[in-house]
Amino acid sequence: MGSIAVIGSLNMDIVNRVERAPLPGETIQAVSTVYVPGGKGANQAVAAARAGARVEMIGAVGQDAFGEELLTNLSTSGVGTEGVLVEPGSATGIAFITVDALGENSIILSAGANGKLTPGKIAPNGRFALLPDWLILQNEIPYPTVAYALTYFAARGTYVIYNPAPACQLPEEDYRKISMLILNETEAAILTGSEVVSAEEISRAASILVDRGCREVIITLGARGLFYRGWEDQELFLEPFKVKVTDTTAAGDTFVGAYAAALAENMPIRDALRFASAAAALAVTQKGAQTSIPERVEIDRFLK
Ligand code: ATP
Repeated sequence: MGSIAVIGSLNMDIVNRVERAPLPGETIQAVSTVYVPGGKGANQAVAAARAGARVEMIGAVGQDAFGEELLTNLSTSGVGTEGVLVEPGSATGIAFITVDALGENSIILSAGANGKLTPGKIAPNGRFALLPDWLILQNEIPYPTVAYALTYFAARGTYVIYNPAPACQLPEEDYRKISMLILNETEAAILTGSEVVSAEEISRAASILVDRGCREVIITLGARGLFYRGWEDQELFLEPFKVKVTDTTAAGDTFVGAYAAALAENMPIRDALRFASAAAALAVTQKGAQTSIPERVEIDRFLK
């Protein structure tokens, strides 16, 4: 089995449940507050490890209690943490999440140490010299670091999975370094500058992205499943598994990590898509980010 590296964010999610969001200048009481390990990078690393892969995390936390807790949580999930820097004088990244009685979210993201992960800090050196078979990237670290990793690893034959979330425009030349682009409908609409709702629009958006140079594209469609487009014009829509939805947080991250784990086992594409959809469907049945990501035994049992 090949190795997977994830370069990305680690956050502590502070989730406040409230009756309604506060008005400007108002103070309100939370109904409950929980602390949940999150960050897109860490979520995807945990998803890949729990799905059975060998995974290393590269990122940064602050020198504080949250940072320690996030590192412990990664290790407990089976993710290697030697590539996670502890930034002196920085706070660990935090997502302040408010969920009202109707389930509506508002989020303030405080990048902390994630924002200090400059290209120089992931450049090969004594500490960081790994060459993974698969690399997963997202956008919660500075884009120059993402661009550096795309260039460095793609040139060395690593299969690069890029999840452009939160969405940002990327230079045309960077598309050619992406092996697999995994994004949701909203991100696809931002990257292509077009509506991505109907089946025809989804297929057209995927073609635009492949024409820009990435080899394969998956557009995840939430409760509508997903669309896959390969470099030789292969296309397919995959229906989602039917489950009782509790909380869709980290569905996308679980999908990305589990898909990479399936590739690392050399699963054929159709099986890998089905495996990752099952993992993501299981994640929406549970609350929270990393708390909702399933273990391999649960995925296998679900698929039987
Ligand atoms: P998030 O930002 O919440 O992590 P996302 O927007 O990146 O998610 P989605 O497209 O919502 O990602 O979901 C990813 C995958 O999860 C889908 O392609 C699907 O396989 C699965 N999924 C999401 N919602 C559901 C659902 N309600 N029922 C079953 N599967 C789901």
